[in-house]
Amino acid sequence: MERMISQTKRYYQFSEYLKERFGCKVYKVTIDAGFTCPNRDGKLGWGGCTYCNNLGFSANSRHEPLPIREQIEQGMAFMRKRYKAEKFIAYFQAYTNTYAPIETLRANYSAALEFDDIVALSIGTRPDCAPDPVLDLIGSYQASHEVWVEYGLQSIHDRTLRLVNRGHNYATFLDALERTRRRGLKVCVHVILGLPGESHAEMMATAQAVGQMDIDSLKIHLMHVLRDTPIEKDLTEGRFKALEFDEYVNLVCDFLEYLPPKVSIQRLTADGPRSILLAPKWATQKSKIIAAIDAELERRGSQQGSRLG
Ligand code: SF4
Repeated sequence: MERMISQTKRYYQFSEYLKERFGCKVYKVTIDAGFTCPNRDGKLGWGGCTYCNNLGFSANSRHEPLPIREQIEQGMAFMRKRYKAEKFIAYFQAYTNTYAPIETLRANYSAALEFDDIVALSIGTRPDCAPDPVLDLIGSYQASHEVWVEYGLQSIHDRTLRLVNRGHNYATFLDALERTRRRGLKVCVHVILGLPGESHAEMMATAQAVGQMDIDSLKIHLMHVLRDTPIEKDLTEGRFKALEFDEYVNLVCDFLEYLPPKVSIQRLTADGPRSILLAPKWATQKSKIIAAIDAELERRGSQQGSRLG
């Protein structure tokens, strides 16, 4: 039977999924394993995606990362204290977490899973960095843990992907998704709303395509401009304009209406460190954005999946 939307929200929050799945409060502990990205180290390109400043992953990212064990111990202690977290997901977040020799990957993933309170593994990566041997390795951890792969798709439109210098196309994403699902791995997809040059219709085409994919979860990011990124110049020279607050709220609601209710929602916005955020400035007001999305869905009398009939 199709699951019902939450009693408290008009979309299926990931926190609810975790409560249903594990029966307790589960939080992600983010890990920077010191990997790099082929779109920054020269394999694909040097500049990276035009919006990428890896300080955006974490305010502490890219100082020499601590050993994985220490990052996890510190992360768990913080989450226990702040949120009364009970169990944890080891989340390899910074850069491209499948982009290293397979023995390096194995050593890093295995180190993260040594803790009894880690119940799941989540690995963020690019769709062009998911060769079969790496997916086999990741799949092998399913014997003991729930295992997720998070793919940055951002948009289904190749023109946009070229414009932001993603270095991969939509077909590459679809291929990675199919090979990942074939191994039984859970998949979370990342999209960005407000990418340069994209119309409302194009973003909704992405929403409809994502709504038809065989995925488990979604993160919706707000396109924002950070200092020291290629797109900073486009912003200052007037070639790129960030979304307005109301525009974004409406886009997110429209997007959610195309998603099946079984897809959990991990994120509805994004900001980045305040010190390097250039636009839109309202991106830092996360709780206000979430409240406005809730209010707009309420006003519409709609919910996740409303447009699916
Ligand atoms: S794929 Fe990720 S880490 Fe690499 S350049 Fe793009 S945003 Fe940055």
